[in-house]
Amino acid sequence: MRVGDGISTDFWRDSWIAGIDPLIGYVSERLAHSLGCVSVASMADGNGNWLWHKFEHLLPLNIRLRIAAAGCPMAGFAADSECWKGNVQGNFTVKSAYVIWCGPTAPNDGKLWKMLHKYRGLQRVKTFLWLVCLGWVLTNSERVRRHISDNAGCTLCGELIEDVNHLLRWCSQAIGVWISLIKPDFLSLFLTMNVKEWVYLNLTDATRMVNHPED
Ligand SMILES: [Zn+2]
Repeated sequence: MRVGDGISTDFWRDSWIAGIDPLIGYVSERLAHSLGCVSVASMADGNGNWLWHKFEHLLPLNIRLRIAAAGCPMAGFAADSECWKGNVQGNFTVKSAYVIWCGPTAPNDGKLWKMLHKYRGLQRVKTFLWLVCLGWVLTNSERVRRHISDNAGCTLCGELIEDVNHLLRWCSQAIGVWISLIKPDFLSLFLTMNVKEWVYLNLTDATRMVNHPED
């Protein structure tokens, strides 16, 4: 669902935040069955503020941060509408259907590698960006894949899988920075786009997304 005024979207059971399942899936089984149908609008005050006390005790930190990043419904916004789940804009495209079918790909790989080749920042940053784009960063999930560890989780926030996406964007230690840095209109896209496209965007057009680029 694409949330506008939040009235016709079920807070717990509809899929309304890009990239994550319905919120009820993150509530402990013991409590999930007692949750009734409540609208997204009823979890906000109508002026753009979440009523956190109604739900924050039921959801883990990383999901609360996703809600904060999703933006809040407001009275007077357009009605909620159904949308295509395949991309954050909610518009059906052949590309997004292809991504669902085949898994994420970065169509601008050639441009990306050229951009990294030309990068003139610190060498160790350049090397790290190469590793990110090649999927070779030694995250805990990668350690498990290489049979050098049996713990794929994040030691900072407790998330069960620490992959490169978690490391750079979704860890509770990172997402707070992005929420304060990135303009609300871009935040959802910024946090859910393909990692390689994300690196490319950061290297080419980052100032457009930042709240106060001069800071
Ligand atoms: Zn983490």
